[in-house]
Amino acid sequence: MDRAPGRRELASLLKMEDFSSVYAEADRVRKVNVSDVVYIRSILEFSNHCRRQCRYCGLNCTNRKAKRFRMKPEEIVSTARQAWDAGYKTVVLQSGEDPFYTPQLLGEIVREIKKTGIKITLSCGEMSFEDYSYLKECGADRYLLKQETADPEIYRALHPDSQLEERISCLKNLKKLGYETGSGFMIGLPGQSLETIAADILLIYEIGCDMAGIGPFIPHPDTPLKNSPHGSTELTKRAVALTRILMPEINLPATTALGVLDAEEKNSVFSCGANVVMRKVTPDAYKKLYEIYPADLGETDIYKERRELEEMIHRLGRIPV
Ligand code: SF4
Repeated sequence: MDRAPGRRELASLLKMEDFSSVYAEADRVRKVNVSDVVYIRSILEFSNHCRRQCRYCGLNCTNRKAKRFRMKPEEIVSTARQAWDAGYKTVVLQSGEDPFYTPQLLGEIVREIKKTGIKITLSCGEMSFEDYSYLKECGADRYLLKQETADPEIYRALHPDSQLEERISCLKNLKKLGYETGSGFMIGLPGQSLETIAADILLIYEIGCDMAGIGPFIPHPDTPLKNSPHGSTELTKRAVALTRILMPEINLPATTALGVLDAEEKNSVFSCGANVVMRKVTPDAYKKLYEIYPADLGETDIYKERRELEEMIHRLGRIPV
């Protein structure tokens, strides 16, 4: 694209009846700019304690039914080492906003894991500029902090204890500090329109994100949004395709949420612009407890799953890395 489209222009593209030409263009742009490679990333969820009240999330602190866990630092390090041994070159360390893991403790964990050579993405929520800076010094390479929605009103309704401006400011700080910065948003949030989705795509463009996780909203039964319908997988793929065309070199994962609603759609998103897949390496004792939204999760066999994922990517005619 020679220029960034406006919000209305993007919204009207999103509602086109026949989207096949846009999908084809997104696939072409993906191939030219990021090749046929699919990056495989491991994700380790180490704590489901969270001080926040996000109304769509099963881990929010008001959900009394959630059974909470925290992994010990040495357990986090040894699981990350296993991921490295199984062939993963990146581990995403994810948690709720859990004050137990101070920046100092997180920093020690990062330093220990970095000894393997694995790249580290942190996804632990909002922090001060100084704390992000400290974690970067300790060896963190990337940070994932989803905006969830670019609409201030919807953001306020969904996050009674936080503000969109703060989130955007965190994302800008991460960029400033040299992190590869990931954001993302949900499709199908209550009150969302096509223009909101267009604004989401444009916010990712304006921040200059290096990665964007775009997935459908899935209601969790123990949250205030339990009766809301889930997001559309078709609209999710359309948003992925437009993001690829707008930002040719961005990394776009086939999100887990898309696979939860429809496994076929998760694979087909690779022909709409996606080039990353994430696989959980969280130990079985904790995996089912990390429930942002309900998902049917099997048992973790880090080595076997890694092999199966590579086979799946080969079947799609792509190259696993
Ligand atoms: S979305 Fe993140 S910050 Fe919000 S309640 Fe869930 S884990 Fe906590």
